[in-house]
Amino acid sequence: MVDRDRLHALLARERAAFEARNPRSEDAYAQAAHLFGKVPMTWMNKTAAGFPLYLAHARGATVTDLDGHEYTDFCLGDTAAMAGHSPSPVTRAVHERFITSGGACAMLPTTDATWVGAELTRRFGVSEWSFALTATDANRWAIRLLRALTGRPKILFNSYCYHGSVDESLIVLEAGRPQSRAGNVGAPVDVTLTSRVAEYNDLDGLERELAHGDVAAVVMEPALTNIGIVLPEPGYLAGVRELTRRYGTYLVNDETHTFSAGPGGATGAWGLEPDVVTIGKAIGGGIPAAAYGLSAEIASTVGTIEDLDLVDMGGVGGTLAGNALSVAATRATLEHVLTDAAFATMSALASRFADGVQRVIDAHGLPWSVSRLGARVEYRFAAPAPRTGTGSAAAADADLEDYLHVFLANRGILLTPFHNMALMSPVTTEEQVDHHEQVFAEAVAQLRA
Ligand code: PMP
Repeated sequence: MVDRDRLHALLARERAAFEARNPRSEDAYAQAAHLFGKVPMTWMNKTAAGFPLYLAHARGATVTDLDGHEYTDFCLGDTAAMAGHSPSPVTRAVHERFITSGGACAMLPTTDATWVGAELTRRFGVSEWSFALTATDANRWAIRLLRALTGRPKILFNSYCYHGSVDESLIVLEAGRPQSRAGNVGAPVDVTLTSRVAEYNDLDGLERELAHGDVAAVVMEPALTNIGIVLPEPGYLAGVRELTRRYGTYLVNDETHTFSAGPGGATGAWGLEPDVVTIGKAIGGGIPAAAYGLSAEIASTVGTIEDLDLVDMGGVGGTLAGNALSVAATRATLEHVLTDAAFATMSALASRFADGVQRVIDAHGLPWSVSRLGARVEYRFAAPAPRTGTGSAAAADADLEDYLHVFLANRGILLTPFHNMALMSPVTTEEQVDHHEQVFAEAVAQLRA
């Protein structure tokens, strides 16, 4: 369907245009000799065009780069800025906490955290919350608690999931066999010693693994969002819940991305009953924040296990976790920005975005698909949309993805670098969504010409 020679020629043309358009970003990148990989974090080298755009400033759903170009930002910090960049209620709360009253890291609790715990329970159901600064840590600490509680050694993940840099999660199925995920850096032990793996949407595979009786917890996204969006088939999530209960395994819903489904994430939107919920990124409105919530039963039981050090050196916690600035920002985000009403607007925009992409796919008869989860949309180079993580991984096309990303960037639109993902903030506009459709249609038309 796609002529590879034509694709490579267009990609080269767009990369050249990108380089010509962004001399200040290119120069900034060249100067960064004392940054490992020339970037603040090595993943910033995931760029379609040879060097990253440098951020000058961002507000709402608009980013401005060092060369002065404005972009509609559908990346939104890969969900960390789902509230929009620097929304006023959050900047006011940060100003109040850090400047007016003062004190970010006093090692003392604030009452904002009490409010946030109650609000997270209203949204996600589980009853007692603890804070982290990254979703990775929320997952790591939840995993430790559930191992301690069950005395079981293993955690089960879905193949091609992503839950942050959690050692146990870097496992995939290759030709039906569990293996360390390609690229796993300096694994502490063979991942098959700590983890089991099943395909998403495969209840038989899940039951086979749980039947070993050594799985403390299933950690999953209710819908996969890090390998395209893979949505649950009818009965799958109910089946996961039934099987985990039957085999004495706890169920953790990682809502870090599926939060896009609604104010209580997929858990709230679909009436799910996890034992633990983990979440990070968006809840801080741009300030580092994350949390894990435990069922009342887990919270009360873990608290009574003898010789478990939850206060000092036990391996759960971080000095800055739950700091006053982080929870003040989280309160402002949940109370005033990512409200129940905001999600209705964001979902409607995402629906408009997905319809636009589908129109282009249909007009060209492309074997591509578009999937939506509330405020989040993703297009994938396979139709129908893949039903497992492994199936979705097989539909990757790096050159095609790079072409679309750099074509869009050259015309003022940012998608998430690791995906063809677009996320709507409460202040994204219909005009921005329609502009994407128009530019996406042009990118595809040139490819097909
Ligand atoms: N869980 C999920 C579902 C994620 O998508 C991510 C990051 N993409 C994480 C956890 C980790 O978040 P962080 O990198 O902020 O720790």
